Amino acid sequence: MLIRPANTLALTLAFTALTLSAQDRTASLLQRLSDAAGPSGFEEPIRKIMVGEMKPLASSLRYDGMGSIVATQGTSGPRIMVDAHMDELGGMVRRITPGGYLTMQMLGGWLDAALPDQRWTILGSKGPVSAVTGIRDVHLVPPDERTRAVSRDSIFLDIGAKSAEEVQALGVGVGDPIVPDAPFRIMNGTANYLGKAWDDRVGCAVVVEAMRQLQSAPHPNQIFYAITTQEEVGLRGAHSAADLIKPEIGIALEGGVVGDTLPAHPEESQAKLGAGPGIFLYDTSEVPNRKLSAFVRAAAKNLNVPLQLDLVSGYGDDSAEIQKSNAGVPTVNLVVPVRYTHAHNGIMNRNDFDSLVKILVDVLQHLDASTVARLRDFTPE
Ligand SMILES: [Zn+2]
Repeated sequence: MLIRPANTLALTLAFTALTLSAQDRTASLLQRLSDAAGPSGFEEPIRKIMVGEMKPLASSLRYDGMGSIVATQGTSGPRIMVDAHMDELGGMVRRITPGGYLTMQMLGGWLDAALPDQRWTILGSKGPVSAVTGIRDVHLVPPDERTRAVSRDSIFLDIGAKSAEEVQALGVGVGDPIVPDAPFRIMNGTANYLGKAWDDRVGCAVVVEAMRQLQSAPHPNQIFYAITTQEEVGLRGAHSAADLIKPEIGIALEGGVVGDTLPAHPEESQAKLGAGPGIFLYDTSEVPNRKLSAFVRAAAKNLNVPLQLDLVSGYGDDSAEIQKSNAGVPTVNLVVPVRYTHAHNGIMNRNDFDSLVKILVDVLQHLDASTVARLRDFTPE
């Protein structure tokens, strides 16, 4: 039997603790962002966390009239807008029945299949209230209905109350915001992180990590980090944030999609979790600027970081609003791939995340005045 000398053990433990603490800052940031509530239009809890993270790293921080955060680094050079949205999919209390059940107004693009038999949190006037979307009991459903999908019209919330009065006493009223209850978890010691709202809390975390690095590193531009509201209901916060910023270049950071689950649908997406961050070459809302896309792809190649190419129909992002602002802006959408977006339980990969931070920081350090002028030049050659 080998007995490890105590001092080696202590050294090993110290080393493990050191490695973990560096990793933990990012993992803990991702956990706090994923666990925070903030459905479209009710972003207060997530805004508070993001301001706490961004303020010490920014030279200035303000808000637009829709509640988006705009933090800056640098005071001269081209105006670069870096965007991630803070809102997540959720719902609102629509109606309270006399028996104490609640119906929901959904916020954002939910699949009906993702709604039944899930835990939710209602942000009531007296604090968080736990809820579950009730389902019909299998013992009571006729056999031919057992394989049928449940439509959102028949979805209701059960908070354990037996009357409308009890609902009211719990501090729940019509219009109160609702979010998924799906706590963060690192999956079995892998680099895969399970949680809700990766769309777009991954983008928010990329912003914080990039700001941390660029606080002390040189960059030849003014960076405006916009953490926007109400993306999931129509890219609304990016519109007003871009109005305020008047950017010359726009970079949206998002949760991407993957096509690596079963059954395979290769035409929908070939992106894989853990195979690197992605760049969108097409989505429903935007055709990105070709020179800016080439610039980002060249940066990734120089860094030896794999970059997946996405062409996705049925996807919109903030870059679409940014590119139409300020008389037209070259934009691109860069993503951390996410498995199961717009659902309670999504999965992101930590290596994909770290690689996107690396690419973004490099791109921001090389967007100088002459490069931006070249990217914005449409004169035929
Ligand atoms: Zn999104």
